Amino acid sequence: MGDEMDGNTILAEALKLQGVEYVFGIVGIPVIELSMAMQAVGIHYVGCRNEQAACYAAQAMGYLTGKPAVCLVVSGPGLLHVFGGMANAQVNCWPLLVIGGSCPQDHEGIGGFQECNQVELSRPYCKYAARPPHPKLIPTHVEKAIRLATFGRPGVSYLDFPGNMLSMSVVSGDVIVASRVPPPPVAFPDPSQVKEASLILSQSKRPLVIIGKGAAYGRAESALWYLINTCNIPFLPTPMGKGVVSDTDEHCVAPARSAALQKADVIVLFGARLNWILHFGRSPRFNPNVKIIQVDLCAEEFHNSRPSTVAIQGDIRVTCSSITQELSAQGWSVPSSSSWWNLLKTKVESNKTTVGKMIADTRPPLNYYTVFHHIQDIIPKDSIICSEGANTMDIGRAILSNTLPRHRLDAGTFGTMGVGLGFAVASALWCQKYAPQKRVVCVEGDSAFGFSGMELETMYRYKLPVIIIVVNNNGIYGGFDQDTFNAIREGADPTQVTPPTALSVKVHYENMMSLFGKKGFFCQTIPEVQQAVRESLKVVDSPSIINIAINPAADRKPQPFNWLTESKL
Ligand code: ADP
Ligand code: MG
Repeated sequence: MGDEMDGNTILAEALKLQGVEYVFGIVGIPVIELSMAMQAVGIHYVGCRNEQAACYAAQAMGYLTGKPAVCLVVSGPGLLHVFGGMANAQVNCWPLLVIGGSCPQDHEGIGGFQECNQVELSRPYCKYAARPPHPKLIPTHVEKAIRLATFGRPGVSYLDFPGNMLSMSVVSGDVIVASRVPPPPVAFPDPSQVKEASLILSQSKRPLVIIGKGAAYGRAESALWYLINTCNIPFLPTPMGKGVVSDTDEHCVAPARSAALQKADVIVLFGARLNWILHFGRSPRFNPNVKIIQVDLCAEEFHNSRPSTVAIQGDIRVTCSSITQELSAQGWSVPSSSSWWNLLKTKVESNKTTVGKMIADTRPPLNYYTVFHHIQDIIPKDSIICSEGANTMDIGRAILSNTLPRHRLDAGTFGTMGVGLGFAVASALWCQKYAPQKRVVCVEGDSAFGFSGMELETMYRYKLPVIIIVVNNNGIYGGFDQDTFNAIREGADPTQVTPPTALSVKVHYENMMSLFGKKGFFCQTIPEVQQAVRESLKVVDSPSIINIAINPAADRKPQPFNWLTESKL
């Protein structure tokens, strides 16, 4: 008999071979030994407080590194709790491997502990869901799971491991060895389509580039900077496309977003989908006659919601470079004196004036704009910003700049609340490894913070210096003041009269720091905000909480359109 290995060790070694570096999870029966086997082979294990948050952290690590991290959960409820996270990763097109322990096979069908048809339930949120039939086949399935999570359009894989398979021993020589998954293939565009796209662009009077999070994931930052600067084309980032080309670049026309979308005659989409985030590409938000040039690695995405004039299947980095080559060979660029640039610059300026008035208003109770402006003033320009909440995220996106790619993580395509702290955990671990001086700032609405607030303890345990800023209006969307709250509740049953959007007034979230014998910050004025941010930047081995009580009636500046254009169905 040769050496024996159990399923736990085979799985840990297979993950290691595939380059998995981080596992986020919550352990229990039957995966405790597995988590230890993972640590034994040198994989970082990060224990979280809620499976959803663990799943958000794992997928953020996948987005930041381009390599899937693992989310490890127990059977039954453990797995059910991560479906929100799996759906979020799948909809965002981020790579992720979920590993679930499950009830021993000889207890299946007779009421086993946490028995649940896990593979079938996972399938709608996955590209690949499987249970290896035998421990010796584990490496083959891990290879396939990693390959499918990263090749083509990135997404989620699920692998299921009954307790008996993890503890079963097999002779080492019987384990079927798998090879390491190579980097995903780079898809080159059809040259004739590159020519066609370049011709259409060069004939355009009002061109616009839209940069999506696919460009961030595809590491297309240099290629896009070069195209935009060589050809002097205005661009708009999507929420997580922010920073691929710096928000401070003179070609960024985010403050003139509505006008740019409405007036452009040619739009090039680099890794952005015409879904709700881009108003489906339809009128009245878009010019009905606009020509769309779509660049995406996923052909199934083409012509969604409206037909594209040119749909190029290709990696953004190489496709963008080929388009730049064509255009610069023709010497084409948009004149700075063109009526298009003049219109956009005028809109940018007028928006700055409106926002400037809100920023200048520093009277308590504070408004969102002045709060974000003064935070932005102090935090390092290269910080990673994780953000969620309704107004907090939307207004924060406009005021908090990103100068680097993959430095903004938010509720994303699925609009998921509860992601912020998990994303911040992963971002802070990423910083520890790749950029130790860089800070993570987690900007949360008070409602959004509630979903995963206990991950504060995770941050504390792993010494992650995340600055959590709670922008507190005592509610979901709009907030409540004490008088309104009292009047509503006066003598009545709170479950009958408290508005569903209300949260308690004057909650001191900063006192959560006292769980660790530390002090948080409560702010009602701009000098208090400034002081709190400065103090928090000095803390390098623990999270901080800054709880900012804002005006419960604070809102967005008037918008030309509703957030979601009214449906005509
Ligand atoms: P946003 O929310 O920023 O608009 P989406 O998530 O809707 O972005 O779209 C991202 C798109 O980018 C997806 O359709 C995905 O297939 C695509 N994508 C991801 N990576 C690449 C890449 N390297 N090259 C081309 N397209 C990519
Ligand atoms: Mg709120």
